[in-house]
Amino acid sequence: MPENSLEHPLKTLIRKEILSLEGYRSEAIKANIKLDANECPYSPSITLNLRSLKLNRYPDPEAKDLKKLLSRMWDTGPENILQGNGSDELIYYLISVTGGPVLYPVPTFSMYGIIGRILGKGIIEIPLDQNFDIPDNFINVIRKQKPGIIFLSSPNNPTGNMFSEEKIVDVIKKSHCIVVVDEAYQPYARNNNGFIPYTKKYKNLLVMRTFSKIGLAGIRLGFLIGDSRILNEINKARLPYNVNLLTQNIALEVLRKRSFFNNLIKRVISEREWLMKELQSINQITVYPSDANFILFKIRNAGRIYKGLIKKDILIKNLSNVIPDCLRVTVGRKEENRAFIKALKGLVSK
Ligand SMILES: *Cc1c(COP(=O)(O)O)cnc(C)c1O
Repeated sequence: MPENSLEHPLKTLIRKEILSLEGYRSEAIKANIKLDANECPYSPSITLNLRSLKLNRYPDPEAKDLKKLLSRMWDTGPENILQGNGSDELIYYLISVTGGPVLYPVPTFSMYGIIGRILGKGIIEIPLDQNFDIPDNFINVIRKQKPGIIFLSSPNNPTGNMFSEEKIVDVIKKSHCIVVVDEAYQPYARNNNGFIPYTKKYKNLLVMRTFSKIGLAGIRLGFLIGDSRILNEINKARLPYNVNLLTQNIALEVLRKRSFFNNLIKRVISEREWLMKELQSINQITVYPSDANFILFKIRNAGRIYKGLIKKDILIKNLSNVIPDCLRVTVGRKEENRAFIKALKGLVSK
């Protein structure tokens, strides 16, 4: 390679799919009240005895203790669970072991598309219908384009709703590929047990769960639940020690006192309902129903409102480039939610 060539050699060194890719954007803006990333406002208080951990040794590559505990919670076997360094990593494995293209309805979680592009699999994006549900042409697209894998985020991020159960089952039945139901927000859903029970019936169904939205985003831990033979194949693509020792131990500690999760879920849901009522009471706002720990709403001058909130030290998510005039607010602590509503009312009346 000539040392002084005028042009940077980037184009010859990096694949064009990567050069044209816009990576995952996480907000760099700092704010005291952070309601932009669907994190849980409560952190578990645990005491972990670091001295008792063998930091010089590799962690259990199979995370056996964790899987045993979770298999009881989810009424399945440890062999029906696969661990990931967050569900993002599992999405990476899933797309790498299946053929393309990657199919999903939009708007949805951006990582399906980003990882699909990184791995050069091709992507098919089908717009959701007016109710943000799986559209009627979805099955036709499956028949014609024969995707290698399908992702359904339910409850969906960023719209907040669950897709209709019959439609999801129909997609599972009529696809000849793996269908992933991403249940990152399922703990906050109103009255549904999610799709884990269906994994016993449908071999091509995998359910994805994460601890990121229920108070443990910092430790990076996610899981796939489904048929053991399929998980066994995906396991071949998994990097050996993907879930580190600290993560395994912290998760075990928190899971042993399940009350942490039960309490935070109750509090977040009750705050969500409060926020929902408050938003609905503001004239210029259309609020969408939510089964998650965030609320999507439509508002005139969304960009101005978003910036106005930042000036008041409140960060939410501006989605107006994805869904016109829409903003998404994560449910925070009681006092944060009150500060948000107060600031929002002030901005709307201007
Ligand atoms: C936040 C989110 C994830 C990411 O989960 P991690 O376990 O933090 O990687 C996955 N799916 C959806 C739909 C999400 O909103």
